[in-house]
Amino acid sequence: MSATSSIEWTNATWNFLLGCTKCSAGCASCYAVTHVLRMAGNPNPRVSAANAGLAYRQDNGLLNWTGEVRGLPDRLAHPFGWPAPAKVFVNSLSDLFHEDVPVGFIRRAFDVMRATPWHTYQCLTKRAGRLAELSPDLDWPANVWMGVSVESQPYAPRVDRLRTTGARVKFLSVEPLLGPVTLDLGGIDWVITGGESGPHARPFDPAWALAVRDQCRAAGVKFFHKQNGGRNKKATGRLLGGRTYDGMPDVIPAPVPPARERRALAARLVPEAGGTVALPMA
Ligand code: SF4
Repeated sequence: MSATSSIEWTNATWNFLLGCTKCSAGCASCYAVTHVLRMAGNPNPRVSAANAGLAYRQDNGLLNWTGEVRGLPDRLAHPFGWPAPAKVFVNSLSDLFHEDVPVGFIRRAFDVMRATPWHTYQCLTKRAGRLAELSPDLDWPANVWMGVSVESQPYAPRVDRLRTTGARVKFLSVEPLLGPVTLDLGGIDWVITGGESGPHARPFDPAWALAVRDQCRAAGVKFFHKQNGGRNKKATGRLLGGRTYDGMPDVIPAPVPPARERRALAARLVPEAGGTVALPMA
């Protein structure tokens, strides 16, 4: 896994896509573009080559994507190499349903997720239209959780699109929460809230997250508050109304096959990896 993730609601990240395009208010301070630009200067030539040419600093000093979305097929093999069950955030540095990701590549990722039921995959997109369009052509394994971002009220229609998909667990990332939101939570299993963090963090009012918590309570939906954000997110912490919220859907446990079997599966599904399922570099 791409090291242990510091994201509070997952254990690991699986980045077989790098690069994206800003498409939504929540993208303004995209952390992925910062990470990818930094990794393009990594002293390890494999890491720098994977990340090169995807992000740049604009004349106004802000970072942006160049527009290229890069698929790294050999990385599709990585989950076979992880020795213990993990909750895996799929593509923290891109968007699985970006318009430039070929449907065949998305299907291959689903094949890997289906072949590794001992992991739980958390896919998150802002491209809810393409998600809904492709969903009938995807065979949804029970260990794939599908989420959409809803950073403010104008993006609530993404929830309607998510509802139409075949995912067993459907969730909302209400982060960075930019204002009060009223959500239709019918058919939704899990909601995550959080304030924006970083040097350009926009204001966050805990009352907005508390109101989402109340909507989750009324609808019987699991609720997770990730962070209060701000320029120093360590200082503002995760307490909301004096306590933490760590609700999360149940994971379906499944045994991890021996390494020999996992290598054979990887060789069949991801021949590009050349039979290696070593832990990846970011
Ligand atoms: S969709 Fe996600 S990865 Fe892509 S620009 Fe927006 S915040 Fe960044």
